[in-house]
Amino acid sequence: MRIDRIETFVLKAPLGTERFYSSQGSFHERTSLLVRITTDDGHVGWGESGVSMPVEHVAAYIHDVAALRLLGRDPANTEAIWFELYSSSRDFGRSGTPVDALSGIDVALWDIRGQAAGLPIHALAGGAHRDRVRCYATGLYYRGEDVRDLASAVGQVRDEALGYVARGFTALKGKVGLLPLPQDIKRMEAVREAVGDRFLLMTDANHAYNRHTARRMGQALEALDYYWFEEPLVPEDLEGCAALRRELSIAIATGECEYTRYGYRRLLQADAADIVQADISACGGFSEGLKIHALTAAFCTPLLPHVWGSAVAFAAALQFAAVLEPVPHTAFPQAPENDVLFEYDCNPNPLRDELAGVPFALEGDTLRIPQTPGLGIAIDREALNRYCVAEQSSTRKAGL
Ligand code: CA
Repeated sequence: MRIDRIETFVLKAPLGTERFYSSQGSFHERTSLLVRITTDDGHVGWGESGVSMPVEHVAAYIHDVAALRLLGRDPANTEAIWFELYSSSRDFGRSGTPVDALSGIDVALWDIRGQAAGLPIHALAGGAHRDRVRCYATGLYYRGEDVRDLASAVGQVRDEALGYVARGFTALKGKVGLLPLPQDIKRMEAVREAVGDRFLLMTDANHAYNRHTARRMGQALEALDYYWFEEPLVPEDLEGCAALRRELSIAIATGECEYTRYGYRRLLQADAADIVQADISACGGFSEGLKIHALTAAFCTPLLPHVWGSAVAFAAALQFAAVLEPVPHTAFPQAPENDVLFEYDCNPNPLRDELAGVPFALEGDTLRIPQTPGLGIAIDREALNRYCVAEQSSTRKAGL
């Protein structure tokens, strides 16, 4: 089996009036970069690269740099290919674009391995610890004509939170960091009041705070019994996160902007996280994600996947979630204490909902992990064509 072709597809789905904000800016469209790898015997694997916008430069890297080392290779050699692609870009690319590119490529290769073996990726990776995951809703972004209007922001998060309760969710993560601290605290108070004391709540600042404001927000969230405080500080400030962990009892979650075993080793050695959030479509793919999981388990720290992007990244995260061992073992693992709590983005996302042949269907707050070969999804080509704005192909030359 040889790799014959590597294709990339830039997908964009405009959101129009449904645009929303995190602390870092507005989302006016959903964007994904899909990677498709085809072998000489007709196997096809899909991956997704660059879950952070923009994505065009990741496609350029795949074709201009990685393709030369990929075409003609046996896709079963995922470890050796990963090592070669990473090592050949070490001098300039130990994180960011080259690892984003490598992630999509590696996931596509694992998809091919699964298709060829007739096994889901979690079976290839050694077997699943679970066949379903409890999901939490990711929502409570900033919306509306004036996202800085406190009265409407409070009403909006209260109504939105009640909507998640009505849909059957039992856990919810909301955004903070865009409004002044007292106003964001009022928003989070309104959410707690709306959902009641027993509902699991988390919050995510997308690294909007300095050390002082993070401490103040952390104290306010503790008083409201929030379970975790995500990305309080910029990902470079590992010492700051470690200090917050010592000062606060709320769990500090971080890691979605980290790359490879080397990045997560620094994070863990700095004591910077109670919960590590790796994204399989950015951290280095399955080959590297499994090593990162071995590291987090050795540090007795749970890994809860960061999930964003299209149906491909979502399916990859589900396969990854299946193989994450409980930290630690108990007879009845409980999410999120020692079992996976899976991120379910509740913002509008046609690239997730329309691209998989069969959409991922929540049963209450639970998702089944696909058991069919590879990633366990079939890509709907009509949906792909509907949202594709640029595609590119690199093909093996005759004789190679
Ligand atoms: Ca996040």
